[in-house]
Amino acid sequence: MFTRTKLIHAGKKPDLTSGAITSPIYLSTTFERDTDGNRAPMGFYYTRIGNPNRTELEDKLNILEEGSKAFAFSSGMAAYMALFHAILQPGDHIIISDDCYHAVTHMGLSLFRKWNITCSEADMTDLTNLQQNIRPETKLIIIETPSNPLLKIADIEAIASIAKKKHILLLCDNTWATPYCTNPLMAGADFVIHSTTKYLGGHSDILGGCIIQREINEHTNSIEETQTIGGMVPSPFDCWLLNRSICTFPLRMKQQIETAAFLADALQSHPLIEKILYPGLAYHPNHSIAKKQMTNGYGAMLSIQIIGDAKTALRFASSLSLFKHATSLGGIESLIEHRRSAEGKYAKSPENLLRVSIGLENADDLLNDITSTFKRF
Ligand SMILES: *Cc1c(COP(=O)(O)O)cnc(C)c1O
Repeated sequence: MFTRTKLIHAGKKPDLTSGAITSPIYLSTTFERDTDGNRAPMGFYYTRIGNPNRTELEDKLNILEEGSKAFAFSSGMAAYMALFHAILQPGDHIIISDDCYHAVTHMGLSLFRKWNITCSEADMTDLTNLQQNIRPETKLIIIETPSNPLLKIADIEAIASIAKKKHILLLCDNTWATPYCTNPLMAGADFVIHSTTKYLGGHSDILGGCIIQREINEHTNSIEETQTIGGMVPSPFDCWLLNRSICTFPLRMKQQIETAAFLADALQSHPLIEKILYPGLAYHPNHSIAKKQMTNGYGAMLSIQIIGDAKTALRFASSLSLFKHATSLGGIESLIEHRRSAEGKYAKSPENLLRVSIGLENADDLLNDITSTFKRF
């Protein structure tokens, strides 16, 4: 696993003009060239192609996932768009998880249809189901573990070995587990994607994404071309904020996981809760895979299926005081969301499910917010 020491020092050099320890924000879009007009002394030419704040960020992302090459994007979905564009050809088939981020389903099933790319959905916790969906033209498998919002755990090593035998690329979206809990590249995935908007940003104030590659190979150039020629890059200020956030990410994550585990345990026998979905609970159907695959705990996301229907769930979400009824995750403030209402065109989450992102508040205060709201309910 990455160390905090490496993370804090990665990509950082004291500023040459002032000696500043904290990197300046390089807002300049252009950089001076050599007399031959071709090269630039510091390696930067134009901010879409490269910027010092982005280089620092990509160094840190690479260390986090122990990859060979990292690319930063303007959002998590821009990272997906770039990967699809860079590695897929018309006629290719992809397989996505039947319980993944709804915009990934949208992209797979509809956005690339006109490029003649087909997409199937499989239950990634059922390897037979996954294998049944593989076709000769399958090029890419995309997994999310824990899945969203059912928190199913896919066995990355087992899926990577199936994919490798069939010469299929494997992408793992590590936004939820984060490299603090799961290391997909070490388990054999070819690519990791993050929405850095979530835990790596950690403060609900940056939109960003990234791709990290296990190996530098024939896809490296096409991803880089899509990123820079396609112009899907984050701003220097967003890179600077992320560099700052990533340094405290392991400490935030540690605390958020501890609180999530405490709440999952404390709420599992609550009379108004039908079920808590959290991979750390012994009765979770994929607990043994989670135990084998996840380090440092089971993440800080959980879903609560309350007793009642969609209306009850929505009313509960809006009645809490500390938990804010809002989408997204991974920030310092706890959030709760009725996922089915938020999923749009491809909505399929259970009606009584509330997805919860645990923040950095005191665990007792969060528990009290939930139990006292149930009492008033
Ligand atoms: C939020 C999210 C995305 C999309 O990222 P954006 O930064 O919103 O574009 C993709 N995958 C997962 C798992 C997410 O939670």
